[in-house]
Amino acid sequence: NASARKPPLKILLCSPRGFCAGVVRAIDAVERALAKFGPPVYVRHEIVHNRYVVESLKAKGAIFVEELEEIPETSAPVIFSAHGVAKSVSAQATARHLLAIDATCPLVTKVHREAEIHWRRGRRVLLVGHSGHPEVVGTMGQLPEGAVVLVESVEDIERLQLEDESNLAYVTQTTLSLDDSQEIVTALMQRFPKIVGPHKEDICYATTNRQAAVKQVAPHVDAVIVVGSPNSSNSQRLREVAERAGAPAQLVQSRGEIDWAIFGSIASLGITAGASAPEVLVEEIMDAFAERYEIAVEMVSTADESVSFPLPKELRAIA
Ligand code: SF4
Repeated sequence: NASARKPPLKILLCSPRGFCAGVVRAIDAVERALAKFGPPVYVRHEIVHNRYVVESLKAKGAIFVEELEEIPETSAPVIFSAHGVAKSVSAQATARHLLAIDATCPLVTKVHREAEIHWRRGRRVLLVGHSGHPEVVGTMGQLPEGAVVLVESVEDIERLQLEDESNLAYVTQTTLSLDDSQEIVTALMQRFPKIVGPHKEDICYATTNRQAAVKQVAPHVDAVIVVGSPNSSNSQRLREVAERAGAPAQLVQSRGEIDWAIFGSIASLGITAGASAPEVLVEEIMDAFAERYEIAVEMVSTADESVSFPLPKELRAIA
């Protein structure tokens, strides 16, 4: 029988992995809006960075746009994605009398408010983050154009030329690599000893916990699969953390993407999933391994999570 010939594979399943509270809330917001208002519901940008999630919501009547200009005159609601938006986007929605529902993760909103408070106190704000990511665009857009200086690396800090170095503050993207951001923050404090910032970075609990779990697992396995989409920042960071901890790692969105040249001849495998990747995709990928290997699954848990956020206020009571 064929199964008798399958080689053994030990799978270490990272916990926590997958959906965070901000992602659950954002997806719930779209589903509740569809239930409350009926389709279509417009969503500005991918509600969370996952193709499977976006396609499922499209099938239920969500229409995804990148900018509000793409939305016709309508009484249908528009939902802002979990990554947050610049103030100009909210202002544009108001000017167009669109019913805007903000699904920005509360932990991103917290960073927005920090940046604003620093600015009001007369501080120049530096944002540690990745250029072009929608969260970075949204955080920079909390303050007037040019007010926030983006810092992506230690080299960026060496190159910085600021008129007034005495009154600085920093905030960070929520989904950075903990190790990289510590290095960057240390360099910031060395160059600008009086800079003020959060107690730690603004990296969220979900990013922290997922990176810790994969860091624990990676040294004990031959390879790591990170379930997630290529435009998902926190998923990309999980792949990097695994590789730096010594395991070849691949980021995959579905079982069809598994590179069997790497994963076809291993004895142990770590699996984790980015904060926007649904568990059904993890299961599908485990099934793909179970077809080729005799798998034994062990859970490696490094933290318990019990975070949840209330829905945006417009959606809390369903009529
Ligand atoms: Fe919020 Fe963190 Fe999840 Fe982003 S990864 S949605 S900041 S909880």
